[in-house]
Amino acid sequence: MIYLGFDIGGTKIRGYRVIPSYRKGRLVRADLDENVFSEPELKTRNFQNPKELSELVYKAVKRFGSPKKVVVSGAIAGVINPETLDAVCANVHFPLTFLGDLKNMGYRSFAFNDLFANGTALSRLGPGRNYSVVAVQNIGSGNNIACARNGVVFTRGTEAGHQAYIDSGVSCGCGGSGHLETYASGNGAALLALTYFKTHPGDRKHPILEEALKEWNLENRKRTGMEKLNNDSFWREIVFSIQGRHVMAAYSKFPEQNPQKEIRRLERNGIAYQLGQITGLHQPELIIMRGSFVTENWTNLGKPAVQRFLSNYERFVHPAIERPKIERKKVKKDGVIGAVLCAIDEIRQE
Ligand SMILES: [Zn+2]
Repeated sequence: MIYLGFDIGGTKIRGYRVIPSYRKGRLVRADLDENVFSEPELKTRNFQNPKELSELVYKAVKRFGSPKKVVVSGAIAGVINPETLDAVCANVHFPLTFLGDLKNMGYRSFAFNDLFANGTALSRLGPGRNYSVVAVQNIGSGNNIACARNGVVFTRGTEAGHQAYIDSGVSCGCGGSGHLETYASGNGAALLALTYFKTHPGDRKHPILEEALKEWNLENRKRTGMEKLNNDSFWREIVFSIQGRHVMAAYSKFPEQNPQKEIRRLERNGIAYQLGQITGLHQPELIIMRGSFVTENWTNLGKPAVQRFLSNYERFVHPAIERPKIERKKVKKDGVIGAVLCAIDEIRQE
């Protein structure tokens, strides 16, 4: 059988052939073979509608063999309709229907929540394989957690980031306010920076704006200077393009300046709080921290959050609970591998 795994985020789609190896029924490794697409990733914004995307995926999948030979499975950062396999992702303006379309063409097709798939891969391979209870804290643009026992994820599609965290907090993208995601994610850091600039409209030379402008220049292939920020509408465009990584880049250059100093403190505290939540609820032996916001800002954010959690342990969790080991993992293909492993599980249960 040929297994094709897809990682379907809000903005990009990656696809690989995954070759799992089993010994005595236990997974020993999963190798990534060829890329399904002719480029490393597809950008969803390059497509006008779901049909256009489906046709391209179908062409790419057909190369690997007929529906009898090929299984396709996706890890999706979004809401999945279990009947049709259609997915709605936050940053795509049309539903992603290609997994359902492939199913209608006769392919064995599956779709899983991305954290469910990531948790499956990380608890069976790599650091997780030597522990029975493994939790994954994912902090990239968003925030979510998964927890597995003996390689089986038992937290199905949680929305761990969207829980009340502080009383009079900033409005969350989901419609609530004061949610943990604002204080423990890349989007959250961006939202806090946006809130700052809305109340400081005269601030036109800030290092956070400089970082955001640098990226704007790259994307638009231009070399626009800071003086252009004196134009109100351009300033607004740049303020709305701020990402968590811009805040952290400004922090690493000017750690004593606000708002990055305060935002970084709030994010560190939020991440530490969630480590406590995970430990208190699930008592994992190992917590794997993944996601670009912590792994790419490990010295300034991830590590200090772990230190805060461990050095105030009794304040966060019941002291009788054993301290988990905490490791970070910087792998971009967990979702692809996890999607395939979850599909194999489903097939075995049929
Ligand atoms: Zn929310």
